[in-house]
Amino acid sequence: MLLFFILGLFVHFVFFGSIFDIYFTSPLVHGMTPQFTPLPPPAKRLVLFVADGLRADTLYELDENGNSRAPFIRNIIMHEGSWGLSHTRVPTESRPGHVALIAGFYEDVSAVAKGWKENPVEFDSLINESKYTWSWGSPDILTMFAKGAYGDHVFTYTYDADSEDFGAHDVTKLDTWVFDKVKEFFHAARNNQSLFSKLNEEKIVFFLHLLGIDTNGHAHRPSSREYKDNIKLVDAGMKEMVSILEHFYGNDGKTAFIFTSDHGMTDWGSHGAGHPSETLTPFVTWGAGIKYPQKVSAQKFDDAFLKEWRLESWKRQDIHQGILPVDYLNNTDLFKAESMFTNAIQILEQFKVKMTQKKEVTLPFLFIPFKLLPESKQLNIVRKARSYIKQRKYDEAVSLCKELIHLALKGLSYYHTYDRFFLAINVVLGFLGWTSYAFLLIIKSHFNLTRGVNKEVKKPSHLLSCSCIAIGVFVAFFLLLQDCPWTYYIYCLLPVPIWYAVLREFQVIQDFVTLLLTVPPSYFVGYLLVFILGIEILVLSFFYRYMLTAGLLAFAGWPFITQLWTRAKSISLSWIFFSLLLAAFPLMPVVGRKPDIFLVMGAGLLVLLLSLCVLTSLIKRKDSFINEELLLHLFQMLSVVLSMCVTYSTHSSLRKKQGLPLLNQIISWLILAFSLVLPLLSPTSLFERLFSILLSLMSTYILLSTGYEALFPLVLSCLMFVWIQVEQETLQQRGISCKQKVTSVRFTCSTDITQFRQLYLDDVRRAFFLVFFLVTAFFGTGNIASVNSFDLASVYCFLTVFSPFMMGALMMWKILIPFVLVMCAFEAVQLTTQLSSKSLFLMVLVISDIMALHFFFLVKDYGSWLDIGTSISHYVIVMSMTIVLVFLNGLAHLLTTKKLRLCGKPKSHLI
Ligand SMILES: [Zn+2]
Ligand SMILES: [Zn+2]
Repeated sequence: MLLFFILGLFVHFVFFGSIFDIYFTSPLVHGMTPQFTPLPPPAKRLVLFVADGLRADTLYELDENGNSRAPFIRNIIMHEGSWGLSHTRVPTESRPGHVALIAGFYEDVSAVAKGWKENPVEFDSLINESKYTWSWGSPDILTMFAKGAYGDHVFTYTYDADSEDFGAHDVTKLDTWVFDKVKEFFHAARNNQSLFSKLNEEKIVFFLHLLGIDTNGHAHRPSSREYKDNIKLVDAGMKEMVSILEHFYGNDGKTAFIFTSDHGMTDWGSHGAGHPSETLTPFVTWGAGIKYPQKVSAQKFDDAFLKEWRLESWKRQDIHQGILPVDYLNNTDLFKAESMFTNAIQILEQFKVKMTQKKEVTLPFLFIPFKLLPESKQLNIVRKARSYIKQRKYDEAVSLCKELIHLALKGLSYYHTYDRFFLAINVVLGFLGWTSYAFLLIIKSHFNLTRGVNKEVKKPSHLLSCSCIAIGVFVAFFLLLQDCPWTYYIYCLLPVPIWYAVLREFQVIQDFVTLLLTVPPSYFVGYLLVFILGIEILVLSFFYRYMLTAGLLAFAGWPFITQLWTRAKSISLSWIFFSLLLAAFPLMPVVGRKPDIFLVMGAGLLVLLLSLCVLTSLIKRKDSFINEELLLHLFQMLSVVLSMCVTYSTHSSLRKKQGLPLLNQIISWLILAFSLVLPLLSPTSLFERLFSILLSLMSTYILLSTGYEALFPLVLSCLMFVWIQVEQETLQQRGISCKQKVTSVRFTCSTDITQFRQLYLDDVRRAFFLVFFLVTAFFGTGNIASVNSFDLASVYCFLTVFSPFMMGALMMWKILIPFVLVMCAFEAVQLTTQLSSKSLFLMVLVISDIMALHFFFLVKDYGSWLDIGTSISHYVIVMSMTIVLVFLNGLAHLLTTKKLRLCGKPKSHLI
């Protein structure tokens, strides 16, 4: 089993890593010759303002009184420069946003794995190509470009990371700090000869990174006064900066200005995903070489922004990465044509280098070149464009260059994804082999297939092993000839031993097929269809949360098709009731969008009510209710009350801008710490222990809640309690005598030693229910995007100073709590139905691997609203489901079976 586990871990690791070779390889090409436009540039220097996390609409729109929040910027749009929307891509995080702005490419997503902390690939940037760059702002951003730069020409001025406090202080200081430093800088430059001469060089860049708006957006949401006031502050600050600069250079008209942002922000104060509020950012530019405002009578855009913002009559020009936006330029047609020509040659050069690289590592007879842009066509277009420029047919030249860029980009992506199909086939082969192997293991250990005839132990034939070795050698030789990276060997060779292991069990396969043939085909097809439908619902629920509602509705109907309804009416009714109640959650907006402190309080009250009921019933049932248990129960109720108070008072204190009271913080951490210990003190009888776990986890969950999601674990647990009883009933239907009543079952440490019974179809259903409930526990209140761009408000009871590690850990625990509840309940199901956990894991493994295969093909390497991050997370989640399950099972086992005693002497408990 251990070997199987290690092998399984390795296989999943490889399959996960494969997406980085198949989908997320670095698109960057190295080794091109630099190309320059022969004409002199209109600007000597560039000033780049980046307002981190600024949404386009909040900047451009007018406030209630019809005034602009950014009068300076609006004035520029109307009187001085050009404007538009810039479309960023997912992930809408600061690092990729700035890389796209400053280095000019969409950073490859493999950077995700490295947390965007270090430069995962070498790249060239505007800052590196400048003569000198001075930058002010957040250390996270500035160091990224300073590090990649060679020589001593990039100067950074940063504050330290600790001052990014989300709570009490005024975060606009992050922006005023930058403005003040720039002011000081230019003041000092007048008396510093060497600095003064550097500042008068050509090709210099000033980069002002303004983090206040982003920080205010996270803390107070973009609709807040804080966010909007911060925009006003930035606008005024920029006005001052521009005037200082113009004054310094004596209005020489050689400065170009750009104002934009790296990404936007959602209404609930997060970014990372692909919602338009996150991907649409403002772009305003003016100064040397930039077109003046162009009055137009009508503009064609799909959205209604122009009207909303009252900017219909000023030409809006949206920009994307990659192609030079010539329409922004105020220069001669010759200059534009030459610039476009250079742009085209640059991209063509990348295409050529990429093709050569691919050609070198591919066997000549296997190389298929990109058909749309053969060498003759390249030459032809370049020659034609050149002659158009000579004949002063500039417009024709520009459009021809655009065509060339378009083709070259297509070709680049063709060569970039050249190996994709080949690798995908291999990975899928391995994956299928692995899943079949796990399936065979279940069959082998649980069905009495090896009947009398097959008693003689068959040795695996030599033919099989020999042919497998031959295939392996052939594949390795083939890869060697092509000079493939070492990872390719793993992807291509791994399927060989896996399929060898599968084919070795030929006898089992044969027996299983004969067994299947004895089943009526209609039954078989029916079960298969239900199974496929179930899996598809699970897969779809990753994209559409309401699919979970559909699944839960089906669950609610389930008692009617079994005999459960006739046998146990009250259990069936409560099953239906709680299924329907839980079905409502996936229909609600994801967590954190509509904070409502009263729902959190309501959830707390419900928990208290429930625990009072349980308490009275316990007292009734037991003649002598042990003092210690009563005390524990009351203590847990007290902690729920405490967490309600803390949540409420923290909420109101933050609203009054008084920060997080220290006492609240201490109590929160104490509750969190105790919540893991207290259940271990409770008696191990099934319901009491489960209830104690629920109380403890709920008190923590309330602290971490901001809205309706506080109700979710409560409803989920109620359904889980009913589920335990339902499973007991279904087992009795099969005529299996149950030794104990559910109420009297105790958790014991040796759960898995229960007698080894055969597997039934019902057990497959149980495994499916478990997976379904786990998925529900995850998507019931949120989606992936709400996880990777979490709502900071939910950890405010614990800390308000930004600390990614602590905040992440707390958020992780919040996400895990529903899982733990499901797993603890399942521990009880396992115990009452005597299901072996080994075969359970194998079944979950098969289910999750079939799902993972879906997500492998659904991995996206380009941005849309179904974005990259989400598709990777989906893949990761289902791949790691089994491992997480092992971990959660261990945790649940510990929580349910471990018994701590306060005083050393053992006590006898009455059941
Ligand atoms: Zn940012
Ligand atoms: Zn941010």
